[in-house]
Amino acid sequence: MAARLRDPATLLPSLVGASSPHSRLREIHGHLLVSGRLASPSHHADFVASLASSSHLSYARLLLPRRPATLLVHNGLLRALARGPCPGLAFAAFRELPLAPDHYSFTFLVRAATSLAAAASSATPVPTDVAVSLLAGSVHAAAFRHGHAADLHVQSGAVSMYAAVGDVGAVRAAFAEIMSPDVVCVTAMLGALSAGGDVDTARELFDRMPQQDHVAWNAMLTGYVRVGRAREALGLFDEMQKAGVSVGEATLVSVLTACAQMGALERGMWVHSYVCSRGMRVSVTLGTALLDMYSKCGVVTMAMEVFESMTERNIYTWTSALSGLAMNGMGEECLELFKRMESTGMEPNGVTFVAVLRGCSVAGLVEEGRACFDSMKDKHKAEPWLEHYGCMVDLYGRAGRLDDAVNFINSMPVEPHEGVWGALLNASRIHNNADLGKHAMYKLTKIESKNDAAHVLLSNIYAESHNWKGVSKVRNMMKSKGVKKVPGCSAIEVDGKVHEFFVGSKSHPRYKDIETMLAGMSHKLRLQGYTANTKEVLFDIEEEEKEGAISLHSEKLALAFGLITLPEGTVIRIVKNLRVCKDCHDYTKMISKVFDREIVMRDRNRFHHFKHGACSCRDYW
Ligand code: ZN
Ligand code: ZN
Repeated sequence: MAARLRDPATLLPSLVGASSPHSRLREIHGHLLVSGRLASPSHHADFVASLASSSHLSYARLLLPRRPATLLVHNGLLRALARGPCPGLAFAAFRELPLAPDHYSFTFLVRAATSLAAAASSATPVPTDVAVSLLAGSVHAAAFRHGHAADLHVQSGAVSMYAAVGDVGAVRAAFAEIMSPDVVCVTAMLGALSAGGDVDTARELFDRMPQQDHVAWNAMLTGYVRVGRAREALGLFDEMQKAGVSVGEATLVSVLTACAQMGALERGMWVHSYVCSRGMRVSVTLGTALLDMYSKCGVVTMAMEVFESMTERNIYTWTSALSGLAMNGMGEECLELFKRMESTGMEPNGVTFVAVLRGCSVAGLVEEGRACFDSMKDKHKAEPWLEHYGCMVDLYGRAGRLDDAVNFINSMPVEPHEGVWGALLNASRIHNNADLGKHAMYKLTKIESKNDAAHVLLSNIYAESHNWKGVSKVRNMMKSKGVKKVPGCSAIEVDGKVHEFFVGSKSHPRYKDIETMLAGMSHKLRLQGYTANTKEVLFDIEEEEKEGAISLHSEKLALAFGLITLPEGTVIRIVKNLRVCKDCHDYTKMISKVFDREIVMRDRNRFHHFKHGACSCRDYW
């Protein structure tokens, strides 16, 4: 040890540890004083910095006033604090500065604010976003006041700082002031634009970069995923591989999220085998992304296999597994897994309860769901969200207990939101209760007057009960309010390529084959006694087009394409953006039987696993 102390200045980081006792610090301090090392401002700064960065802040600050303070020493402290575990302390040290700050001081302050903002956005309860945002502004203002705002390091630091705060406007303004921004600065700008949802401007900036590093690629990739442009995300990933950019965990997590959004199972499985073949460590984040991809592609067995193989699981892992089971209609399994989670001592969060309540709902486990809802307050001291109330109404409504659903709404301590009325409306449709449906619709449109799905549901209720007057009333209501229906779109992945079909669209290059297939399908189904259910589409198309238009619902196009292209015995997987209509549901059930094919369809809310003429949703969706 004596030999190591001969040159303490260079050995400081290893000498001063977070767990070093005070006596050890004094020993090192004494040695530095005796050897004359502390007379050198740079060694002094190093010592202060290593004290500060190893959490010996009070000791570090004690050292400041005793020295004829040079800015170098103070800046060393600022830098260490900014990089350390408590970046907020840099501001306290800044206020105690006995000298005028220089541009370095501001570079470190900007860095401290950036770290604080990053900490705030990762949901540590320390500072609120607003407070950090104000702080960032005041740091920048102080730099202006002291005449250092035009320094390149301060400028590009400010871009990163505002990016971390999430203030896109300020990022743009700060960026505009830089004459020739460096790659770090452009990447920060790119990240801010991506995070703020302006992926198109981000892309322009990205394409103009002379050289993109992996940070820029990843920022672009997450940007696409965040706004749900999964197709472009996967396209970018292809380019990224062609460019030979190193693929790390962050990239793979983004790609898996894109696969989950699109239901692109083949690509998702490719990522999984990439991870395995390279012997990559499956961290809790990567494992959770894999599990989520499998459950959102409707392959619950693989999702649970990943889940069981994980050595570390956090609340996101458990919640993702629970909601995967619920979405795929495996309510009992969902509840079982929740009990297992509780036995491990893992504390559920609000999203976990949403998943479990949905699981209870799909399985018709009313009492279990009620017990789970009550346990939120009694056992877990968690206040239910509006979404949980919506789940409860769905739970009662789906089980046909409409009175209980209404009583539950009446006893709510908070004003019911659109989700609650939407659940009641859906329950009224399932159980054919037009009066209750009308009431729910009235409440719903008071909150959200242009809810297209709600109008469609009510129209379906009327159509079910042959109330054509009601149907045309809803149609007129939609016209007068300017409610627009989102066009239906279904996607299917064949050989790693995702094909999208829009309702009634004939633009696919193989449309001729699809048309022939559709005719063949209809013929076979008619022989089995199938007739088109035209009720649900009545209100948005003319009578005579009913049968024709129904046969062109996007999921049918995708289904026909799947039957043409995917070999026998392969599961056909379709992802639809809207709720599946009753006709397409009946149709797909029949196809699964007549063509002896397993078909998995993900609609806006859940999965339908069609097999041997039946669906996992038990016809309640
Ligand atoms: Zn349909
Ligand atoms: Zn179904």
